[in-house]
Amino acid sequence: MSGNGAARGYGVSSAGERIGFDELAAAIESKLIAAGASPATARVLASNCAACERDGTLSHGVFRVAGYLDSLERGWANGSAEATVDVVSSSFVRIDGDNGFAQPALAAAGAEIDQALADTGVAVIALANTHHFSALWPELESFARDGRVAMAMIASGKLAVVPEGATRPVFSTNPFAFATPVAGGDPVVFDFSTSSMSHGDLQLLRAEGREVPIGTGVDSTGADTRDPETILDGGGIRPFGGHKGAMLSFMIETLAAGLTGGAFTFEIDAEAPEGVHTFRTGQLYIVIDPERGGNEAYLARVRGFIDMLRDAGMDRLPGDRRYANRAEAAEAGIPVTDTIRALLD
Ligand code: NDP
Repeated sequence: MSGNGAARGYGVSSAGERIGFDELAAAIESKLIAAGASPATARVLASNCAACERDGTLSHGVFRVAGYLDSLERGWANGSAEATVDVVSSSFVRIDGDNGFAQPALAAAGAEIDQALADTGVAVIALANTHHFSALWPELESFARDGRVAMAMIASGKLAVVPEGATRPVFSTNPFAFATPVAGGDPVVFDFSTSSMSHGDLQLLRAEGREVPIGTGVDSTGADTRDPETILDGGGIRPFGGHKGAMLSFMIETLAAGLTGGAFTFEIDAEAPEGVHTFRTGQLYIVIDPERGGNEAYLARVRGFIDMLRDAGMDRLPGDRRYANRAEAAEAGIPVTDTIRALLD
């Protein structure tokens, strides 16, 4: 199963209760502030969590708030971090997140990123010393809505993925995302882990006592299993697509950790205190301004390409499900899940 594809169904209140985006974001924000986040950090994280919930990325919506609170309360993540932004060359921006969260650190570099794009048409943004605990699409969609092509990748934290041949987990679920603007329409944005299933979805399925398809992961002896608990507790998740997914994880670790100066997943895992949910990682963003790069026809060409794909029968493109959920939420509110009810109560 695809977590995002099925996510709307998780624990939705049978009473059909709904909540507005602003009300949900405000509730999350106040929890984060109470746990020690600065108002600026809380605002960015709350908006991100509420957006994931609204769009049906439930594996990274309100479900994640408890993990944020835990990291803040333990002092493991710095809720009032002041990111340092260093423009190391005209298109290369380095950010040290001061052990805070990645999204506020990225937001703090907005002016430098815009300047790099204006000067060169490209911004390579290397974040280190930051925790990323969410989906990647919110930041990428925002770049694409400003007319930019963007991609992002993370050395995401927990050692969880066992490629064929390895006797223990060596990668994280290493997400990768890409976004492009499209003339006359919403951006196309894809965003997925390079594992057969994301860690968040496995946790949700474990909580519901559900099984996963063979090929999703292995137990501690390396044997296939359908049990999420066995995979999460001492076993491992398989990369998607065999060696191809494994080597994408290799590329992501190399860029998001090696190039940024952040920790590789095997280093992150070793330093993290027992039981924490967020990890001090590295993230890499590459943002391109097609117009500044000399191609004013880009947006229309992508439009033509997408029209061809839809005409050929690809009537489900990445982002379609989220945009449909978003439109429904704008009309009727966000469905109140058990997780949201617990947060509000
Ligand atoms: P999924 O397998 O659910 O795939 C998600 C992507 O594929 C979305 O862009 C989705 O579009 C698209 N998609 C799904 N089904 C189809 C289809 N049939 N046709 C076309 N496109 C489709 O993602 P994962 O479970 O692997 O990852 C979920 C989230 O977890 C991601 O947002 C990722 O960033 C996040 N993550 C974060 C980590 C972190 O450390 N911060 C670690 C690992 C994962 P749509 O959105 O429209 O459904």
